[in-house]
Amino acid sequence: MDNVTNKINKIVIVGGGTAGWNAAAFLSRTLGKVIDITLVESDEIGIVGVGEATIPPILAFNNALGFEETAFLKNTQGSIKLGIQFENWGQVGDKYMHAFGNVGKDFAFCSFHNFWLRAKKEGRKEDFWDFSLNFQAAKLNRFAKVKQISGTDLQGIAYAYHFDAGLYAKHLRKFSETRGVKRIEGKISNVNQCAHTDFITDVVLESGQKVEGDLFIDCSGFRGLLIEQALKTGYENWSHWLPCDRALAVPTKSVGQVKPYTRSIAHKAGWQWNIPLQHRTGNGHVYCSDYISDEEARETLLAHLGSEPLAEPRSIPFVTGRRKLQWNKNCVAFGLASGFLEPLESTSIHLIQVGLRRLVQHFPHQGIKQAEIDEFNRQSQREMEHIRDFIILHYKLNQRSDSEFWVNCQNMDVPDSLKHRMELFKASAKVFKESDDLFHEIAWQQVMIGQGLIPDDYHPIAHTISSDQLNGLFRDLQTLIGKTVAAMPSHDKFLEAVS
Ligand SMILES: Cc1cc2nc3c(=O)[nH]c(=O)nc-3n(C[C@H](O)[C@H](O)[C@H](O)COP(=O)(O)OP(=O)(O)OC[C@H]3O[C@@H](n4cnc5c(N)ncnc54)[C@H](O)[C@@H]3O)c2cc1C
Repeated sequence: MDNVTNKINKIVIVGGGTAGWNAAAFLSRTLGKVIDITLVESDEIGIVGVGEATIPPILAFNNALGFEETAFLKNTQGSIKLGIQFENWGQVGDKYMHAFGNVGKDFAFCSFHNFWLRAKKEGRKEDFWDFSLNFQAAKLNRFAKVKQISGTDLQGIAYAYHFDAGLYAKHLRKFSETRGVKRIEGKISNVNQCAHTDFITDVVLESGQKVEGDLFIDCSGFRGLLIEQALKTGYENWSHWLPCDRALAVPTKSVGQVKPYTRSIAHKAGWQWNIPLQHRTGNGHVYCSDYISDEEARETLLAHLGSEPLAEPRSIPFVTGRRKLQWNKNCVAFGLASGFLEPLESTSIHLIQVGLRRLVQHFPHQGIKQAEIDEFNRQSQREMEHIRDFIILHYKLNQRSDSEFWVNCQNMDVPDSLKHRMELFKASAKVFKESDDLFHEIAWQQVMIGQGLIPDDYHPIAHTISSDQLNGLFRDLQTLIGKTVAAMPSHDKFLEAVS
């Protein structure tokens, strides 16, 4: 298909939440000198105001924007995240961490978990996470920026951030406005399209002001003002695999040490997040309204807060799934307008950021071409499906028998792509990462082992070392990790320097 627009000279971003201001920041940083960028947001509508836990690729994104870490953590009241602790996800009372970074030491062609599986079969009692630097630091509330374990080639600490969503949007806004992004406040009442191509030509505010553009970025939240309400793109519903459909969010007073990890605590029909920030803690209950009433969900949340709530719990309904096309005609959707996966693995902000990188890579500066749209959509879809599978895995592998919700999750059909991963791991301990997979092998291993999917077999290379060598390997790793953690300051001490 030929070009269907002229050169892109003007971008209009609709929405000023996390997605909108991320788009403004990244597009102004990369294209701001050659393209005019305007952002429209409505104070009356406001932002969803949740989304406070991230994953390690945010460091590279911040770096691309030129953010200095100390100022970033100060301005967003941020803290460090070393992983996510899952509680009650196997049996009630069970705990494991999806810790960032590596576990153990990999050998050529054979990753560490094979050696651990051999040891387990031989009756040894070491826990898999005894060999995770991130977990050992998290357990003791410690943190330091360790690139490599001293004197070795072992990977150091991998980390991400927790932050206040409102302050994050402000931080991005300041950055964007200094780079020339124009902000218009007002509520859009009409979206106009070309009669021949259906391309969006302009948006009209309640005040009558018309904002024209060549490319429109829809960051209008769940409503999908442009991508759905105007372009009727359609939505692929995934709630048969991920049945939770509501969240209640409430901040609480910060008490005690600020933990350097997110907690995810499974309840009767969903789970609760706990995100520690410098000035408060973010909490929320994600649940399935088919199995629990809103009132019971609220009571469950309030009963498990651990400190004083600072507001009334706020209800956020959602439908899990994805917009059938993230890029449709001259509109690209990011954030909640593009689809929604519950925040179990804190992936939504990452999807915004990786999508923005992709848009810049595929940027249609000489006019929009269908082949470019198709490739962008193909890559985005694959990426989101891998993440969807990873999240479903947590539900599928639960071993709880105390509620109908969890039993039904155990018995549900899962996508073939996930079934294959689980069968492969069970049979041979093998895991793989496709090029468009966000999660590395070690992430899949931790969730599968953490929730009780123990392989029947492992790689024969695990037997190429003697029992004495295996003892030595385990002892050396534990000593190195122990020494490294002992030399770290507390997370609170680290935060003192940035507050
Ligand atoms: C319960 C919950 C927990 C989450 N937790 C995490 C997490 O821990 N980690 C993570 O990565 N992600 C998380 N997310 C996702 C994250 O919150 C979102 O990705 C992020 O906030 C993006 O939101 P948004 O900018 O798309 O939408 P919003 O914040 O809803 O912003 C929409 C914007 O569009 C504007 N707008 C809408 N209609 C109009 C109109 N007619 N005229 C003008 N302006 C308009 C609004 O004013 C607003 O500025 C979570 C999401 C939910 C629901």
